[in-house]
Amino acid sequence: MTDHSHYVGRFAPSPTGPLHFGSLVAALGSYLDARSAGGQWLIRVEDLDPPRAVRGADRHILKQLSDHSLVSDQPVIYQSQRLHRFDDALSCLNDKGHLYACNCPRRSYLGLYPGTCRTQTTSETQPSALRFRVSETTIQQKDLAQGAVTWVYGKDFGDFIVRRKDGLHAYQLAVVTDDIAQKVTRIVRGADLLSATPMQTCLYHALDVQSPETLHLPMVLGRDGQKLSKQTHAPTINAAVAADNLNQALAFLNQPIIASDNPKIILGAAVKNWRTDRIPKLMGKTL
Ligand code: GLU
Repeated sequence: MTDHSHYVGRFAPSPTGPLHFGSLVAALGSYLDARSAGGQWLIRVEDLDPPRAVRGADRHILKQLSDHSLVSDQPVIYQSQRLHRFDDALSCLNDKGHLYACNCPRRSYLGLYPGTCRTQTTSETQPSALRFRVSETTIQQKDLAQGAVTWVYGKDFGDFIVRRKDGLHAYQLAVVTDDIAQKVTRIVRGADLLSATPMQTCLYHALDVQSPETLHLPMVLGRDGQKLSKQTHAPTINAAVAADNLNQALAFLNQPIIASDNPKIILGAAVKNWRTDRIPKLMGKTL
């Protein structure tokens, strides 16, 4: 059981474009869950991948969040300023024998990585990706919205990249390193990231840290049944109607809406009303 006096939650946007309704749902859900437990709520900018980052998107996102009265309890951290931490985590994993060098091109296998280079070490003769050698055969998680989930190694997940061949740290490594550093106790995010959980759990095991609880909110689907995303040019949320946006997000999460034009008042009431058992137990839900 999580000790709620130490609850730390977070919202961790990648600055690849402004917030759309799907990301507002994740921000609001993580905020309400943290606040209703008397916990802290943090914002972390995941700007790990310079080619994908859009200039100014970080400031735009933070402004959109504050226009909805969603403000981090601690200074916002940027992953691009924490690369030394990710290197430390890589060294630690390497010292424990969890990593191997891999040069298999993505096109050389279909779907899951089949573990071709698994018996290699990390002594590289050429620039290589570093992969994590999974030792677990299954990973189980009792997700607070999606219920009990079991992932099988080789079927649902495989050995995964922690440092890319171009030297960039991979999302799985960075997210776990930062969630540990920020003492995050519960991760609330969109169900599109549920499948990342087994790999992240393996990293927690390897680093001897208890993995956080998870609550994966249904993804917001457009009329075409696809997840709203920056890649599919989901519309940017309009801060001029922040109260309406918050109420729409509350309705999406099956929480009572609040008759007010003031985002602060809406959030205050929504924290009191928040019930995780009302969240639709779905991977995705159409708007
Ligand atoms: N940065 C990730 C994204 O924007 C979210 C990471 C997470 O919540 O674990 O999709």
